Amino acid sequence: MKVGTATLTNGTRALDAERASSIVRQISEARAHGIEVVLVTSGAIGVGVGRLGLPRRPTTMGSLQAAASVGQNILMNTYETLFRGFDTPVGQVLVTAGDLADRRRYVNFGNALNALFEYGVVPVVNENDSVSVDEIRVGDNDTLAAHVANAIEADLLILLTDTDGVYTADPHTVAGAARIPFAAGVTAEMLDIANESPTRKASADLGTGRLATKVRAAEIVTSSGIPMALADGARDNAIGDILDGADVGTFFAPTAPRAGSRKRWIAHTLSPKGSIVADAGAFKAVRDGGKSLLPAGIKDVVGTFAFGDPVRCVTEDGVEFARGLVNYTADEITRIRGRRTDAIQHALGYHYADEVIHRDNLVLVERGACIRDASQD
Ligand code: GLU
Repeated sequence: MKVGTATLTNGTRALDAERASSIVRQISEARAHGIEVVLVTSGAIGVGVGRLGLPRRPTTMGSLQAAASVGQNILMNTYETLFRGFDTPVGQVLVTAGDLADRRRYVNFGNALNALFEYGVVPVVNENDSVSVDEIRVGDNDTLAAHVANAIEADLLILLTDTDGVYTADPHTVAGAARIPFAAGVTAEMLDIANESPTRKASADLGTGRLATKVRAAEIVTSSGIPMALADGARDNAIGDILDGADVGTFFAPTAPRAGSRKRWIAHTLSPKGSIVADAGAFKAVRDGGKSLLPAGIKDVVGTFAFGDPVRCVTEDGVEFARGLVNYTADEITRIRGRRTDAIQHALGYHYADEVIHRDNLVLVERGACIRDASQD
């Protein structure tokens, strides 16, 4: 589960002791029922801002790093003290986007969390904001929590925030906007509504999450077969109520069977470095036939990428239908596109593989979400 800055600080520049202890109590109750919990916590920057006596969230990287460094310590101190009351050790795990993008580090991150579970520890995860720089940040903990849920193949992701779910319109401006209790999937309308409405109070000021990042987190996990609940963290027993199946917040049902870990990682965790334009035949072979992407079906290459990089596969109309890891560089693909596989050697003077993207490294996607393994058929 993930708890946001607005929930933890209750709109102030410090940890709200009552909120923090309520969350720790609720996690402990879930644990007493045999449920293992990873806590993804925000609030490092928000709390650090208060501790350093800054008037507002800074904008320069150095000040943000300083605030995160100071605030992270306060967070951990608080969790350690509160969980001690339940005789539960906590373990700090700080990650960067680079840790998630590297397959070995990603798998190892999941392993670290599982090792902590074996010792009965509650892992407390946050982005390592004091060393992350703009371009390589995950940037918000909703997305981070979705990646964590994927990495450990969680049974459920809970996001606690300062709104009690997704509404049919922005409830702060539209009278009669109704809460959506159950969503069978993330719709384009939902993303639109979410883009319009920042969550209330402090999150706009101290945290970085918006409703849009929460809905996108739902898209990431539900398309990997993991349900997500979004609920108001100010609720006394939000976690217990969600686990009891009570009507709170918005529950997003999984939209696909569980995808394999590697495919989920390719579809969601990696940022594509370029695009490959496939002709209609290749599109059909990949999408309907579960085939690899061969040079013959490639019309064009967009961007510069290296061997092993993640790329988008798009139709000639520019619609993305798959993501995968390439066996050739952008430059090499430009030289072999449209050619038969047995002409690769002649065109390049070498031949690494028949496939530009092997089906094992190819995932079908829809609007950036994984719909199923290309190689399942
Ligand atoms: N990692 C940030 C922090 O701890 C929070 C990011 C977010 O607000 O989503 O302050």
